Amino acid sequence: MTATSQQPADLGALILTLNAGSSSIKFALYSVADGDLVLTAKGQVEGIGTAPRFLAKAADGTRLAESYWEPVEAGFGHARALRQIWHWLVETAADERIIAVGHRVAHGGERYADPVLIDPKVTEDLAALIPLVPLHQPNNLAAIRAVATDLPDLPQVACFDTGFHRGRPLVSEQFALPRALLDRGLKRYGFHGLSYEFIVAQLRELAPDLATGRVVVAHLGSGCSMSALRDGRSIETTMSFSALDGLPMGTRCGTLDPGVLLYLMREDGLGVNDLERLLYQESGLLGLSGISNDLRDLKASTAPTAAAAIDYFIYRIGQHLGALCATIGGLDALIFTAGIGENDPDTRARICANAAWLGIAIDAAANARGDGCISPPGQTPSVWVIPTDEERMIARHTLAVVGAAGLPAA
Ligand code: ADP
Repeated sequence: MTATSQQPADLGALILTLNAGSSSIKFALYSVADGDLVLTAKGQVEGIGTAPRFLAKAADGTRLAESYWEPVEAGFGHARALRQIWHWLVETAADERIIAVGHRVAHGGERYADPVLIDPKVTEDLAALIPLVPLHQPNNLAAIRAVATDLPDLPQVACFDTGFHRGRPLVSEQFALPRALLDRGLKRYGFHGLSYEFIVAQLRELAPDLATGRVVVAHLGSGCSMSALRDGRSIETTMSFSALDGLPMGTRCGTLDPGVLLYLMREDGLGVNDLERLLYQESGLLGLSGISNDLRDLKASTAPTAAAAIDYFIYRIGQHLGALCATIGGLDALIFTAGIGENDPDTRARICANAAWLGIAIDAAANARGDGCISPPGQTPSVWVIPTDEERMIARHTLAVVGAAGLPAA
């Protein structure tokens, strides 16, 4: 049942981006005008598997459409969600103007760093990586396959979350495990690459000198990671083989002594599924507080465990910041991004206060505004808030790949 439905503005050829997560599919529509990308609409289906809800908004936030339906049989939720997005695109006549679909794909493995035009071989290669990211890659592939089934002639482009981190020094990529395991692909890949890539592009515009320097970016959202960059390239990053490593997150544990897992397996008989649930869904801010995975709820709570969870979060960010600075030999700029990084001045202030030993200081008024440089003029390292936009990064890549392939639509 569609509750509301209006048309997005008519702006010519469109690129659709899809970001399929475990229980949601985010989408964005960009119109292509003289090689530029203008956001036309964005939205998501959330609650796949529990209480699906479709919402589409115009670029200015105006609600364009909203609908709800009963969850479908397990395993078919993403295809159903995608059909809903497509149904809306048809209803608004946007479908006929879509020239390509760009996907966020969790893992490109050894073979794929740069975005790639999807064909059956690419799909097969990406499916072979499912054991590396069992909770993410299947959703990305479900979206790719659903589009390929319904619209086999529509070009699709895969953009990889691991891509930006490829080519790091071996010491950064390796685990201290037997060499044969490295050869099997057990290494520190890193994620959130599309976000880091977007931030680097923004920094090149905002402060070209800094973009070539030593920079740490803190992507603090529901998932959290930090990366140390030199000359705009990833040198070190906190997420590694999986999206569990590094910083504590909403529901994920962050860095953990593997001995804890051995203990739980031996003493409590926990199996793979139990551990997966514990580490991905029951830990992090939620596990620490016993209250919520959302920092806003914890800040609003008077429970001591809520405050303790926030303390832990801030402490570990500071610890990783120090370690990352060591990998790039100092720091010229610290950048905050994503849900928490962009919207929570308190958290930024606490992280920066703990990092005073690095010479970090912020301007309280600039931090409260939370846009651009938030350190006092001339302060080194400088501190910035730069909103990330993974969807736009995907759209840029998609346009470039489709253009390079000489496809008529581009
Ligand atoms: P996702 O990884 O789903 O894209 P986001 O980057 O949107 O996540 O971040 C979502 C998280 O950001 C929320 O779970 C919440 O903890 C946090 N957040 C958003 N706004 C605020 C705010 N004003 N203050 C504190 N935390 C916030």
